[in-house]
Amino acid sequence: MMLEVKGVSASYGHVEALRDVSITTEKGQIACIIGSNGAGKTTLLKCISGLVKPVSGQIKFLGAPVSFSKPHNNVAKGIVQVPEGRKCFSGLTIQDNLLVGGYLQNGKGLEEGLEEAYRLFPILGERRNQFAGTLSGGEQQMLAVCRGLMAKPKILLLDEPSLGLAPIIVNQVYDLIGKIRESGITILLVEQNAKKALCIADKAYVLENGQIVIEGSGDELLCSPAVKKAYLGE
Ligand code: ATP
Repeated sequence: MMLEVKGVSASYGHVEALRDVSITTEKGQIACIIGSNGAGKTTLLKCISGLVKPVSGQIKFLGAPVSFSKPHNNVAKGIVQVPEGRKCFSGLTIQDNLLVGGYLQNGKGLEEGLEEAYRLFPILGERRNQFAGTLSGGEQQMLAVCRGLMAKPKILLLDEPSLGLAPIIVNQVYDLIGKIRESGITILLVEQNAKKALCIADKAYVLENGQIVIEGSGDELLCSPAVKKAYLGE
């Protein structure tokens, strides 16, 4: 097992964002969490990456506890989060955005990372010396994912990668996610776009008001009447 989240609760002051959440992800698979606004999806990713400390419960990565590790130590271990809203540095060039993602790598690692990013998404290479702010929303999403890959993740935490993008661009983002899985990287994907996420996921969870209420394979959730009604508009 790559990642095990067991009985995790988290709060912001009096606001309880997660209650007794347990999920697992297997090596090389895509797990997804679907849920509506405010369900606690981002908070769960932040607990895993170390940006939010759980109030209780345990998080293990490759068998070792990480619940109290600092975010930068988790990056070094291979846990890498791509934030919601892309958060590209618009006043830095595309190449510099990528280099920021690889700040723990040596020269060779950086070179390999850049080559891989430009292979996966050639526009980034063609425009490497332009400011990231000149990219379209979809291109910025690709840049944010590739910036995450620069850290050589073992598990990539993707927070709503399709947010605000046109359907055709969403397809490109999901093609990229598929390629990342093929390269052997485990993915934990958080989405409001339930259909796309469930179609690609090996395992899926529904988070409602901070609690996991349904879990199963992506296919099982696609067929679940409760999921269809609440998240697929069917
Ligand atoms: P969205 O899809 O809108 O990003 P989400 O499922 O990712 O939603 P979270 O961002 O994890 O949900 O938020 C869960 C709950 O915690 C919400 O009620 C939110 O208002 C609250 N919350 C999140 N961050 C903070 C914070 N920094 N301070 C106080 N409350 C917060």
